Amino acid sequence: MDLMINSIYTHKEIFLREIISNSSDALDKLYFKSLTDTSVGLGADDFVIDIAIDKENRTITVSDNGIGMTEDELDQNLGTIAKSGSFAFKDENEKAEDIDIIGQFGVGFYSAFMVSDKVTVDSKAYGSDKAYRWESEGVDGYRIGECEKASFGTTVTMHLKPDTDDDDYSKYLDEYTIQSLVKKYSDYIRHPIRMEMTKTVLKEGTEDEYEEVAELTTLNSRVPIWKKSKSEVTDEEYNNFYKEKFYDFEDPLKVIHSSVEGNATYKSLLFIPAHAPFNYYTKDYEKGLQLYSKGVLIMDKCADLLPDYYSFVKGLVDSEDLSLNISREMLQHDSQLKLIAKTIEKKIKSELEKMLKNEREKYEQFFKAFGVQIKFGVYNFYGLHKDELKDLLIFTSSYEKKQTTLAEYVERLKEDDKNIYYATGETLEKIEMLPQYEAATGKGLEVLMLTEYVDEFVIKTLMEYGGKTFVNICDEEFDLSSDEEKEAIEKANKDNSEVLEKMKEALGGSVSSVRFTNKLSGHPVCLTSEGAISLDMEKTLNAMPGAGDNKIKATVVLDINIDHPVAAKLKKVYADSPDDLAKYAKLLYSEACLIAGRSIDDPVEHSKLVCDFMSL
Ligand code: ADP
Repeated sequence: MDLMINSIYTHKEIFLREIISNSSDALDKLYFKSLTDTSVGLGADDFVIDIAIDKENRTITVSDNGIGMTEDELDQNLGTIAKSGSFAFKDENEKAEDIDIIGQFGVGFYSAFMVSDKVTVDSKAYGSDKAYRWESEGVDGYRIGECEKASFGTTVTMHLKPDTDDDDYSKYLDEYTIQSLVKKYSDYIRHPIRMEMTKTVLKEGTEDEYEEVAELTTLNSRVPIWKKSKSEVTDEEYNNFYKEKFYDFEDPLKVIHSSVEGNATYKSLLFIPAHAPFNYYTKDYEKGLQLYSKGVLIMDKCADLLPDYYSFVKGLVDSEDLSLNISREMLQHDSQLKLIAKTIEKKIKSELEKMLKNEREKYEQFFKAFGVQIKFGVYNFYGLHKDELKDLLIFTSSYEKKQTTLAEYVERLKEDDKNIYYATGETLEKIEMLPQYEAATGKGLEVLMLTEYVDEFVIKTLMEYGGKTFVNICDEEFDLSSDEEKEAIEKANKDNSEVLEKMKEALGGSVSSVRFTNKLSGHPVCLTSEGAISLDMEKTLNAMPGAGDNKIKATVVLDINIDHPVAAKLKKVYADSPDDLAKYAKLLYSEACLIAGRSIDDPVEHSKLVCDFMSL
């Protein structure tokens, strides 16, 4: 038994949840009886669960006025592990479908032995005039004998174990610990859970003397907000619930309250936070939704309910279909849970799409906080989920400097344009300063301005959108010139091949070639990348943890504006004093690096060269 108890439950504190759930079941059973048998004489509000703490004797007592157990039932239900009376009751009473019965597994009761070295159960079955006591120290079986008990119901008394270095059991003798455990795990048990709480009050007839009095307090809030219908709950109630339960100081951006029936039957209450938790983008962040079974919390963060790309969603799921399950491992294979997770994912997506369509500003705020996570989702698993997520992406566009979806971009595209143009850079300002950006927007093209390091990986994963291919305007293949212009520049490059070759040599392997270009409007030089790895990707890949010393290099071309005076100067230098050409090459390359937002290889040499030229 010890093995079983300690392998099923990771948190000892859940013993209280189990014992309370049993009482709640017992109350439901009697309530169910009262519906058909008027002699019970109890109304829905007469059923209560009482908790009492006895510090001196180190006991916690949980009593209920539920259906109780006969001698036989005590023997059967508490004597045998995995014999659930609740399950049998449900089986025998088809109508009982209508009432919530939490217990199904027949192991919950034993969790009391995680914290107790002795458990006493006094019970009087409803309609019987004899009461019985079941008593056990856990290891060596149990004893059953007659006892005194005034009215029907069950009283479970747990004798707490002595404290050890590792475990503090005395904390369960503290009113506030018990109160918070009830709030945490059993807040939505519909019967009142009561306890005498000590309060300090002004002594009667005095003005400054205080006394401590015990006041019978209901610890649970009883009606779960998610079980109410949407029209019954105000925005403020949703917001307060969210903030209290998920420890946020800000109202959520979106509340998603649904009640689903069909293949999976559940109620869910989900929230999209307005900002990322401070540890969101770290390993410490744990995704997951709270999982309830019939109003009882069975898991605090059920990760299987949320895909990684929606890990920012907070909330809970309450399902009738799930049993108060016994282990995380089992839950993982639960087909019902998988079905719920699927439905929830669809719901989140459709709510985000709705927000994107109808509440643009809110969506942009959302994307600012969690867009990176969506982007990870696009390129993770080699793009497995990209089609699901691509319409949730927004990027800054050169078009009115606003955020745009890819669909909106494509809509604005001229029909014969087959490309979606983008540029990458650390900031929007740096992108605007790119010579290629100036050239492209100058020609009336709309350019997506990608400033996040994941962006380019997203683009490479998507490859195309709506039949349009992504084109990096800093890529050498990007060419807007006419056939004549192309011919002209080709000729210029051929005619000056010696100058260009000499410059390339001077740069010693930093570039794959040096070329004249007519793509730049005002700028003298720029760097262009050739092949799959762009300049920004080079930076990102090398900055990744584990990149080591084997730096990845983009293949880079130094482009020189043929219309700029510097081009004519280069030809002249080559004709007059070819040995000086190396200096020009180095200076221009450094300039191009700086413009592209890269650091220069040898700043000392660069500054020396600048000064040399200044002193001429
Ligand atoms: P489960 O609740 O999963 O059925 P437990 O080990 O917690 O399993 O309890 C075993 C059985 O003992 C219950 O199904 C129920 O029939 C009976 N039982 C436990 N606690 C009570 C109680 N407070 N009142 C009446 N019956 C109870």
